[in-house]
Amino acid sequence: MLTPLQQQLLQVRATLPQDVELVAVSKFHPVEALQEAYDAGQRIFGESRVQELEQKRPLMPADTRWHFIGHLQANKVKYIAPYVELIHAVDSLKLLVEIDRQAARCGRIIHCLLQVHVAQENTKYGFLPNELFDFLEKGEWRALSNTCLAGLMCMATNTDNEQQIRQEFHQAKSLFEQVKVRYFSKVPTFSQCSWGMSDDYPIAIEEGSTLIRVGSKIFGERHY
Ligand SMILES: *Cc1c(COP(=O)(O)O)cnc(C)c1O
Repeated sequence: MLTPLQQQLLQVRATLPQDVELVAVSKFHPVEALQEAYDAGQRIFGESRVQELEQKRPLMPADTRWHFIGHLQANKVKYIAPYVELIHAVDSLKLLVEIDRQAARCGRIIHCLLQVHVAQENTKYGFLPNELFDFLEKGEWRALSNTCLAGLMCMATNTDNEQQIRQEFHQAKSLFEQVKVRYFSKVPTFSQCSWGMSDDYPIAIEEGSTLIRVGSKIFGERHY
């Protein structure tokens, strides 16, 4: 018998094209809920607070794959560096350098996505398009051997206007393609487009997402 949570999870998964991966965003949900999702086959979980991730990780099976999806402070990278599989929201050289430093200490290579700011909200983090190209052009990132830039991440504006959301994802995809051609044409690992959340992931998939981050649609409302 499937639990309601498992039914929701499988319902979301059933709609995904084969080349789109699901990050189950489990922030603010108890580890029992994560275990239910795990038991229904989910392996990638997204958390946005280091302390919460640190508490949950030892309670979950060892093959759980942890993605950090939120804003990450440089001074907290050391806690998650030993195990984190993908950091979604890198938006400064300083943060990338620290991830690289901590990954080196662990003998790992940590995959990272660059967060781009395409939404019409000034509260959201991320590189503006011109800042993204400046960052890539300056090239300090090329010297970092324990991080691997694996793609872009964005969040659309929180709005009911579907056209606007679509246009923002479209802009992110266009940025991805320009960056790929200019800087990563020979780098197959630069391949991920992380966009789409509970309310907008169907649009995100139509606009080229390869990695969706879905929380409340699976786990229900969050209790802060
Ligand atoms: C919370 C969060 C999500 C998931 O949001 P839902 O609307 O619950 O699907 C996705 N991405 C980021 C960066 C988040 O912080």
